[in-house]
Amino acid sequence: MNTPVIGVLALQGDVREHLIALAAADAVARPVRRPEELAEVDGLVIPGGESTTISKLAALFGMLEPLRERVRAGLPVYGTCAGLIMLADKILDPRSGQETIGGIEMIVRRNAFGRQNESFEATVEVAGVGPVEGVFIRAPWVESVGAETEVLAEHGGHIVAVRQGNALATSFHPELTGDHRMHALFVDMVRAAS
Ligand code: GLN
Repeated sequence: MNTPVIGVLALQGDVREHLIALAAADAVARPVRRPEELAEVDGLVIPGGESTTISKLAALFGMLEPLRERVRAGLPVYGTCAGLIMLADKILDPRSGQETIGGIEMIVRRNAFGRQNESFEATVEVAGVGPVEGVFIRAPWVESVGAETEVLAEHGGHIVAVRQGNALATSFHPELTGDHRMHALFVDMVRAAS
């Protein structure tokens, strides 16, 4: 497959920035809101935003189970920030009723790096990619990972990028920097899986 079709879960969050970054990384990118749209993509990005809201809307739109099913079946997924939280098998401090899609064996801590006004940028060394400018906005970190989860980057002694099989997740937001290497890595994963 030359040009994979990659969806961006468009319930809440910075959808547009991911659509732009994916197009720049040579994918056909489109928003995904319904199960029929999910069925048509070769890969899916779950954007940054607010994981409690994304969780609520996914349930409301009847997307939670279809998302879980496709991820379980091996759909390549990439979650940034709130998206990372959505891919966690377990949240340490969930809002009551907060659900995740799961897919990555890890426990995450929400808002771990502090509040909105403690947001920051830092250079993060990502395995296989190199130094990446990481934008951290009320970012989670990964508290612990399972045996199958590969740690791709740490910042300040905390895990901020992971991969397990076809699932990739970062605490930071590469869609906000104009550097499309993380999206290119994901597009390669989608190509390899197809
Ligand atoms: N703190 C947010 C959450 O819990 C994530 C913030 C972000 O995506 N920038 O979902």
